[in-house]
Amino acid sequence: MGMAELLHFLCFFGVFWGFIKDSVCVTLNNEIQNGEKPKNGAVEMKTKIVTIGKMDAPEDINKKLSEAGSIIQNGGLVAFPTETVYGLGGDALNPESSKKIYAAKGRPSDNPLIVHIADIAHLESIVCEIPQKAKLLADAFWPGPLTMIFRKSQLVPYQTTGGLETVAVRMPSNVLASQFIEKSGGYIAAPSANISGRPSPTSAKYVKQDMIGRIDMILEADDVEIGLESTIVDVTCEVPMILRPGYITQEMLCGIVGEIKVDETIFDSSSAAVPKAPGMKYRHYAPKGELVIVEGEPQAVVGFINEKTAAHKSRGERTGVLCTEEWLTQYHADSIKNAGSRNDCKTAAMRLYTFLREFDDENIAYIYAEVFDNAGLGQAVMNRLLKAAGHHIVKV
Ligand code: AMP
Ligand code: MG
Repeated sequence: MGMAELLHFLCFFGVFWGFIKDSVCVTLNNEIQNGEKPKNGAVEMKTKIVTIGKMDAPEDINKKLSEAGSIIQNGGLVAFPTETVYGLGGDALNPESSKKIYAAKGRPSDNPLIVHIADIAHLESIVCEIPQKAKLLADAFWPGPLTMIFRKSQLVPYQTTGGLETVAVRMPSNVLASQFIEKSGGYIAAPSANISGRPSPTSAKYVKQDMIGRIDMILEADDVEIGLESTIVDVTCEVPMILRPGYITQEMLCGIVGEIKVDETIFDSSSAAVPKAPGMKYRHYAPKGELVIVEGEPQAVVGFINEKTAAHKSRGERTGVLCTEEWLTQYHADSIKNAGSRNDCKTAAMRLYTFLREFDDENIAYIYAEVFDNAGLGQAVMNRLLKAAGHHIVKV
């Protein structure tokens, strides 16, 4: 082959290789259904989506959950529905699985994972002791949206507890979650199935948005029932302490064990203390737009927000309002979200994370939110809203 032919051949091979390479990339991207490229050490992989419908025959559901369970037993990751939010599950007793969870979420490794069980008998092997008050709380609220912190046994790896000597345990009430945990060997470490810093997913749609290409399987079922993460209570101390408010309220807990403390850092952003749940120190759930909470008499709040949104609009900036049903028609923002009636915090809890994601999808640059009643479930709603707003609250 002369020099001219060699150059010709190299040129042709170069073009041909470019073509082959592009086709391979297109195929790969189609397989992972256009998921974002995983970062922070997560492995890019094909994610299998398995849908479980209400009308599915029990043997079909059983087959699907068995497949999901064997992924967990082989060290893989599966997202699944619970009654609070969708979880991102791995084998809680396998340190490699926990490492994969942190990588898939981009979660700081000092933020421990909650271990989910389906059978109260399984609690004994992962904790050192079960205090009497924890037994009472478990009797009252398990299965359900309550997580308790215990001193851990040797069975639980430090990779799951973020290096702590304690372990967080919850027994979910969602039937699919419960069956999936059983089929996975009984212990699932599961944070919320979102990329760190984004709102927790309340429907499979958002799990797919965040997790396709990062985990092995997504179990797609109905939207969740509650919409906010579990209440976390530390039961290692004499008087149990709420570390994160949730659906099981302070009043409900007091009704069972009498006295309950609340971690002072939950509502007081000026507190110098470090939150007792390591995850609470991170700014979670932040929408891309600037979120401000406005507190005051209803008419003053409406007036303030309308003045602000009008000023933004005149500068061509897109605005959003998160408000209660009673005041909905008073606002003039580009996007107005109805969080339900003033005295119905359940609806606000269920819709909050969806709204925060929708504001992002709609490119809203400035968001104003009304204040919700800080009692009962309202405590959890206000806690998540304050975190989303970086504690930016204006009194009018
Ligand atoms: P997520 O998994 O996203 O719902 O977050 C779990 C929350 O539980 C985080 O805020 C963790 O810091 C907290 N958590 C988990 N394990 C412990 C523990 N052993 N002690 C205190 N907080 C914990
Ligand atoms: Mg979370």
